[in-house]
Amino acid sequence: MYYSDETVVFLNGEFVKAKDAKVGLFNQTMHYGNGVFEGIRSYDTPDGTRIFKAKEHYDRLHYSAMMMHINLKYSSEELEQITYQLLEMNGLKDAYIRPLVYLGENMSLTPTDEVHVVIMAWEWGKYLGDKMLKVMLSSYQRPNPKACHVQAKVVGHYTNSILATTEAKSKGFDEALLTDMNGNVAEGPGANFFFEKDGKLVTAPLGNILSGITRATVFELAKELNIDVEERYFTPEEIYKADAAFFCGTAAEVIGIELFNDYTFPMKWDDTNSILIQRMYKRRVATNEYKEVYL
Ligand code: PMP
Repeated sequence: MYYSDETVVFLNGEFVKAKDAKVGLFNQTMHYGNGVFEGIRSYDTPDGTRIFKAKEHYDRLHYSAMMMHINLKYSSEELEQITYQLLEMNGLKDAYIRPLVYLGENMSLTPTDEVHVVIMAWEWGKYLGDKMLKVMLSSYQRPNPKACHVQAKVVGHYTNSILATTEAKSKGFDEALLTDMNGNVAEGPGANFFFEKDGKLVTAPLGNILSGITRATVFELAKELNIDVEERYFTPEEIYKADAAFFCGTAAEVIGIELFNDYTFPMKWDDTNSILIQRMYKRRVATNEYKEVYL
């Protein structure tokens, strides 16, 4: 699904066939989850293939590496250039791009000098699909920011996401919504959460969530559309009074939520401000992020 015999990946300075690439069994990332990664998308735009917010993603990769004491030797600009080359070599336009920084052999719980960089890309439909989602309040909480750096995109953090998603799917839902360690709503396993009430959008503040690049784009789009966005803490109970809600993330883009536990959002999705954000996001990524686009 992710690669064929012809697929090329970038691995430590070289372009190699995915099927020929090897990873060490004694690598620290395999055992302890200490590695950092990104999830990026490119789009086939009228100006050619464009990676959406490449700099923001690679800057976040640098931030994640720094927080985990990983020395990432490539600059964001270099990584961006390599990614364009990789897309070209694989004939990809609309693609999902996965850079992963993983560590060499080390069974101690200390940082490692041996740092590997791999970039892979494949065609991937919207992560959560196109249909309105059924979401449940997870019994899992997001990791405590006093236990790890939640704003870093660290491999090991995703065990929490896997548990929450598995629980939600096993109960017949499409996705989970997790609280933070104080019981306030934080985010989904791989996307940020917004709800709409009386035309306003509300989302959790930074601190206990990943600082989503799509979340930041939603802020920009809302400003252009004159839609107010409030960043504040709120409990799951408040969602039961909301008109509408959505998840947003690079892989999922902007996707509406039909119901939360047993509460169906009362407003027709087509009548919400959220759908304007969803449409604008589609246009923004499919044209070119630096161009002004209007509805
Ligand atoms: N929260 C989590 C936990 C995520 O994994 C992601 C996906 N990277 C997001 C939010 C959304 O972030 P972004 O918009 O930068 O993809």
